[in-house]
Amino acid sequence: MKYSFKLLLQILCFSSIVISCMPKKEIANNLKQKSVTKVKNIILLIGDGMGLSQVSASQYYHKNKSNFDRFPVIGLIKTSSASELITDSASSATAFASGIKTYNGALGVTTDTLAVKNIVEEVSEIGISTGIISTSSVTHATPAAFYTHTKKRSMAEDIASQLVNSEIDFFAGGGSDYFNNREDNRDLILELEENNFTMNLDSLVTEPTTNSSKKQGYLLAPKGLPKMLEGRGTFLSDATELALDYLSANENGFFLMIEGAQIDWAGHDNDADYLISELIDFDQTIGAVLDFSELNKETLVIVTADHETGGFTLGQENGDYNKIKPVFSTTGHSATMVPVFTSGPYAELFGGIYENTAIYDKMKSLFFKK
Ligand code: MG
Ligand code: ZN
Repeated sequence: MKYSFKLLLQILCFSSIVISCMPKKEIANNLKQKSVTKVKNIILLIGDGMGLSQVSASQYYHKNKSNFDRFPVIGLIKTSSASELITDSASSATAFASGIKTYNGALGVTTDTLAVKNIVEEVSEIGISTGIISTSSVTHATPAAFYTHTKKRSMAEDIASQLVNSEIDFFAGGGSDYFNNREDNRDLILELEENNFTMNLDSLVTEPTTNSSKKQGYLLAPKGLPKMLEGRGTFLSDATELALDYLSANENGFFLMIEGAQIDWAGHDNDADYLISELIDFDQTIGAVLDFSELNKETLVIVTADHETGGFTLGQENGDYNKIKPVFSTTGHSATMVPVFTSGPYAELFGGIYENTAIYDKMKSLFFKK
């Protein structure tokens, strides 16, 4: 009782801080957006391993203004899994995709390894289009949770085979080895093409397709895509713009998940330059999504993280408070709460402190709102 009162106070305090920090124009926009009765599209951006210090890096190291500054509502999520205090990306992505807490390593299955429906399967039943984009292999834990039911995240070939018959309409990322260089010699590229996909293994098309009856698949690297520092270029924002063009043709709406996967990998490597370059790439992608949603008023944008990686912080250098020294406290994940940023209709539902599974609950209730 004492605990929940304290929690309520924290939520009230936090919400009032959020509202008092909002510029007047944004409050007005927010109130205007409340008049939208239905959310047509939801774009969920996941910065893998992106804690608050990682987000803060976008303020200090980005030449342009950080796109995180454009969000009117901010919340915090608790990320522990069913099995461990510190989650991995598989169980936390399952929390976002299916609304359940499961064990570390599980994708789309309960603690008893039973398959549980994900939001892609649910919204496709009401005619909504779906897409996933990642800078990792599309079979990696975060994107995979949105189409697979697998006991272990390491089963990449099994995960790839589940993408062939999934409800996903658009995907872009790496991982071609798991599709056409497999131990069972199946050619999943061919199977995807037989399943109404236009597949591309070389590059993103420069012109958005007008043939929306075909699904779109891009596998642009054997495993993960290159680092930003090694010349990945504008893949993430370009793929995002292609997906938005393609998916927004559906009058019923769409769900799109976009992952900045290598923010996490840089955290594991304790490599600040790698981390900051990946974070800035993710920030620019957020900018493209916000530009879209500002024109398309029925689009809700959610930016969050599955967990924090690296125990990253922006410390001072040798007592000089004018110099920031990025430092790490672990090569693994941490238990710190991670931020949720929202913009668009019903964004205010995402303020406060709550469990990661509530992201799914809120998205689902908005898609199925009458
Ligand atoms: Mg990931
Ligand atoms: Zn990780």
